[in-house]
Amino acid sequence: MAKKSNGKRPKAICSFCGRSGTQSETLIEGPNNVFICPECVDLCHNIIQQNRRRSTKSEFALADMPRPREIKEYLDEYVIGQEHAKKYISVAVHNHYKRLLHSDSDDSDVEIDKSNVLLIGPTGSGKTLLARTLANKLEVPFAICDATTVTEAGYVGEDVENFLLRLLQAADYDIEEAQRGIVYVDEIDKIGKTSQNVSITRDVSGEGVQQALLKMLEGTIANIPPQGGRKHPEQSYIQIDTSQILFICGGTFVGLDNIIKKRLGQKMIGFDSELTRRTDDKIAYSNIMQQVIPEDIIEYGMIPEMVGRLPVITTLSALDENALIDILTKPKNALVKQYQRFFEMEDAQLDFSEDALHALAKKALKRDTGARALRAITEELMIDLMYQLPEETKPAKYVITRDIVEGKADLFSARQKAKKEKEPA
Ligand code: ADP
Repeated sequence: MAKKSNGKRPKAICSFCGRSGTQSETLIEGPNNVFICPECVDLCHNIIQQNRRRSTKSEFALADMPRPREIKEYLDEYVIGQEHAKKYISVAVHNHYKRLLHSDSDDSDVEIDKSNVLLIGPTGSGKTLLARTLANKLEVPFAICDATTVTEAGYVGEDVENFLLRLLQAADYDIEEAQRGIVYVDEIDKIGKTSQNVSITRDVSGEGVQQALLKMLEGTIANIPPQGGRKHPEQSYIQIDTSQILFICGGTFVGLDNIIKKRLGQKMIGFDSELTRRTDDKIAYSNIMQQVIPEDIIEYGMIPEMVGRLPVITTLSALDENALIDILTKPKNALVKQYQRFFEMEDAQLDFSEDALHALAKKALKRDTGARALRAITEELMIDLMYQLPEETKPAKYVITRDIVEGKADLFSARQKAKKEKEPA
């Protein structure tokens, strides 16, 4: 039976890593003067878990892999609109995992390329949400990284590898798991070369960063510094093969519409395209963006090799007022549903009148950060009521009206007015 030593015995050292009892709080003692420290116990636990997972993770059958339709239907539950992007990404992901399943067994000569994805769309239109929801559906590790952090640090190689470290952390240091995960690289447009992209002046190393990213996208064995992660005693870095990791890159690509318009220009002359007349219109903007081709992205400042490694390019549209209302109310984790749940827990009922939802969406539109503004605006609106709620008399009912959203009525009038107001549609 193993005994615990309190670490005060100077001679006791961990038989696995050599740490002495004073360095480590508790050494667990076995027979014949054998000790093990908590770090090594943790490490052993991880190794055993990994091996177990590896042996139980049978070659998951193709039939088990979600079909594009199934993936899209799942995305529909969380992501409003963006039909085009959802469809493209569902197919890309299905193909990606199909490729993985066949990579070992397939003796066909045809080599299927990796289908990394490029998402182009305005801020707050759901790019990150799409990638995250996808990872949830597939139950694979997921990491969000920002391409601009690489630019700023300047130490290209190391920083790019930090993306993989994040994925590894998301996989709880299970390398096999990490190797089939998804990395979302945000702000990919900000590492374009400066020549075409005049708005970004600080980016001197854009091309270098792209080169470093390119290797990862293509598939390489990357050396990851564990940096505070649980480190194998004999290993100073962890090797990760990126050839099966799906990279989803996202960016707003401000100004790309001009490049597309210029390219389309010749074709548009003669029929005074409606698109040209309504350039300020968000719908027209989205229509133009939808016509993007890889050459436009290259002209924007991405190196051709990089664009070549992102074979699936899809665009997301700017969200309009109705989409924002849907975002507030429809997804499984919609903000309104979340607030209603909080109120229910306090034996209170919460409703938003139809015009209150419109007012909230209008307010959000003004901030020009897409759906991102919705949460902040709703929180600002509800904070006082949430603060007070546990002390209110129960059961209670609150109806948030347009006047309350617009600041013309006191938030607490929601309660008094509750009985007089008509129910929201
Ligand atoms: P970005 O396009 O800038 O990556 P995000 O995906 O981070 O935008 O969106 C920010 C937040 O806005 C999300 O967490 C989500 O709550 C909401 N949101 C954005 N777009 C949508 C959408 N199409 N459907 C549902 N919610 C959305």
